[in-house]
Amino acid sequence: MFDKILIANRGEIALRVLRACKELGIATVAVHSTADADAMHVRLADESVCIGPPPSKDSYLNVPALLAACEITGADAVHPGYGFLSENARFAEILAEHNLHFIGPKAAHIRLMGDKIEAKKTARKLGIPVVPGSDGAVGPDDDAMAIAKTIGFPVLVKAASGGGGRGMKVAQTEEDLMLALSTASNEAKSAFGDASVYLEKYLQKPRHIEIQVLGDGRGGAIHLGERDCSLQRRHQKVWEEGPSPALDAAARQKIGATCAKAMQEMKYLGVGTVEFLYEDGEFYFIEMNTRIQVEHPVTEMITDIDLVLEQIRIAAGGDLPVTQEEVVINGHSIECRVNAENPVSFRPSPGKIQQYHPPGGLGVRIDSAVYQGYVIPPYYDSLVGKLIVHGKTRQECLMRLRRALDEMVVEGIETTLPLFRALVREPAIIDGDYHIHWLEQYLAGQAEAKP
Ligand code: ADP
Repeated sequence: MFDKILIANRGEIALRVLRACKELGIATVAVHSTADADAMHVRLADESVCIGPPPSKDSYLNVPALLAACEITGADAVHPGYGFLSENARFAEILAEHNLHFIGPKAAHIRLMGDKIEAKKTARKLGIPVVPGSDGAVGPDDDAMAIAKTIGFPVLVKAASGGGGRGMKVAQTEEDLMLALSTASNEAKSAFGDASVYLEKYLQKPRHIEIQVLGDGRGGAIHLGERDCSLQRRHQKVWEEGPSPALDAAARQKIGATCAKAMQEMKYLGVGTVEFLYEDGEFYFIEMNTRIQVEHPVTEMITDIDLVLEQIRIAAGGDLPVTQEEVVINGHSIECRVNAENPVSFRPSPGKIQQYHPPGGLGVRIDSAVYQGYVIPPYYDSLVGKLIVHGKTRQECLMRLRRALDEMVVEGIETTLPLFRALVREPAIIDGDYHIHWLEQYLAGQAEAKP
């Protein structure tokens, strides 16, 4: 096992990793930018190192500063959390070159899945169904129109290196295609330094369903069921739940087993998520994330498996915690991402939290790093915290969620709590009857109703 883990992240996920380390008896090192000197993860870690000024590129993405922090503190492993350097294959390699463990998959797998075109090719080879689309990147010499016509409009132009919903443009008709190609490609070039784009069939009413996997790196791998992340705004997840209201046991078993088998063949190491769109009873692979996800608590609540703790154990050479047969899905869980944003315009609302009261009680979990008097800095993501609720049934889960949302107080900044309080009372949500475009359509309807 590791002696000391440096957590190369901030906010709730840094705290989440820290908690797992404490339970395992591993010493922790927090790193922080000058803007985060008062952050909770810094206060709770055994040691902390300031790694630079507020902009992420100078601090949380500053590899030499992170290496120096490992050197100074004697950390023997690095947990990257999500975002920042978590899917940076070169970072994993650099750590290895310095005799430091990267708590994550093998660098080759991070690189492979980081390129969505290569990821789709690999998925297809491994027997995973993919969204119909171009065979690879669509370059200037290709006849994009001919490819798009074969796929059938509407088509989606996607960036090979895309992430966070960026570098994606829909072409509803032939007239839109050239503009969609150039905008997506330019956006991808400036955001990811890679202009390559590909085409995919644009699905009209799919759900986003993702499978949590866990591999030991030696050919052992299991799946831990699915999460339904269809409630999205600008391709960003807002509410996640598991099990999906749209899947039955047979569908779950089939797609889960397909993913587990693929991970066994790859000899995948650590936690990962295989993402699909699901429409008319069919699954279509879109991408794989080779890290812990924001919404991992949903799976933890229904499987009773501590994913971060297992991720650390496995990175240190440990075995899978359970066999596939031992995985039991228990009840239902929903996660709401409470952001520091105006609930109507979604404009970020950084600032000081004047009043804070997290909800509690049976089946209620808060993963957050804020406290009363904490100032949310304007430099990073706007997550205030995740409210995660568990119940024996979806109905009980919704009942608890309504109560917990009403109990939660965050004052001094604007948050998306009012949106969740409305959503949890919406008939379509209560019935579990929604798809990836539902939330944007709902928000557009709300805006029309209140001019
Ligand atoms: P990112 O890496 O930027 O998150 P993804 O490929 O995971 O991109 O897609 C994010 C979201 O975009 C999906 O959850 C879905 O809502 C939407 N999306 C992606 N591909 C398609 C598609 N072919 N048709 C319709 N929507 C899509």
